[in-house]
Amino acid sequence: MTRSPRLAAVLLMALALVAGACGADDPAIDTGAGQDATTDTTALEPPEFEAGTTMAEIQSEGKLVVGTKFDQPGFGLRNPTTGEVEGFDVEIAELMAQGIFGGTQEEAAEKIEFVEAVSKNREPFIQDGRVDIVVATYTINDARKEVVDFAGPYFVAEQDIMVKSDNEDITSAEDMNGETVCTAKGSTSEKNLRAAAPDAEVVLFDTYSQCAEALTDGRVTAVTTDNTILAGLVQASNGEFKLVKAPFSDEPYGIGLEKGDDAFRSFLNDRLEEIMENGEWEEAFAGTLGAIGLDTPEPPDIDRYGEGGDTATTTTAA
Ligand code: GLU
Repeated sequence: MTRSPRLAAVLLMALALVAGACGADDPAIDTGAGQDATTDTTALEPPEFEAGTTMAEIQSEGKLVVGTKFDQPGFGLRNPTTGEVEGFDVEIAELMAQGIFGGTQEEAAEKIEFVEAVSKNREPFIQDGRVDIVVATYTINDARKEVVDFAGPYFVAEQDIMVKSDNEDITSAEDMNGETVCTAKGSTSEKNLRAAAPDAEVVLFDTYSQCAEALTDGRVTAVTTDNTILAGLVQASNGEFKLVKAPFSDEPYGIGLEKGDDAFRSFLNDRLEEIMENGEWEEAFAGTLGAIGLDTPEPPDIDRYGEGGDTATTTTAA
């Protein structure tokens, strides 16, 4: 090589800029395995699906409609500059889309219409056919399984508490008794809060970003929901808030889909297993939640409850 180290550095920077600006749709640009490289360059063959399946319909329409959060840093946050939603849930949705349409993740992403979902409208969005799937920090539980189905889990969070940084009074879930505590309508966080601190004065909003504003204003003393959502809000607060780190529930996140669509659920579970095995899940996590300081965990085992006539509710070990 005759290039000077300085020139090489400039070229590398230029390449990084091009990759950053244009994504990775140019196969000549290898984004490598860097932690921020969440877009894979591998192009998949478009699969052939059995006629009449949801996958075949979505593929022929050329569009996947996904409900996700627009105000949750790390999971689904609308970038005010680009208008694009970004985060781990968005990456998971894109990787599912890639499994349906083939091509690269970036190409598949262009075929997704993201619709803003809040906690309380996720089941209705699925039931009304407003969206094909919901990927929105959506806990799998039996009550929800009465009306929708879930692929996954693809991540397991824990409910925790966020307070102002100088608050030394709340160090456990019980300490929320007698305090004004904010969470979102229609969330498991609300149910868990009422069970863990029955004497808390519960303040409900549609979103956790509204709860964070109420914490800033002093309208509430604490905000409770999944630790991962709170981690994003803490990071965005520039030292104003802190995480109490007293987790009091498990929140396995699933991809919500229409109840009874077993072929679609099996497909999504297969695709989740594929990305968990080939490193794309890890890459997506590191590039999104990793950037807000979370260590990449082992992916959870998929729960194929009731699939193929099997009534077991737990999955086989990985
Ligand atoms: N994961 C919990 C739920 O699904 C809380 C987070 C949220 O509301 O999105 O209800």
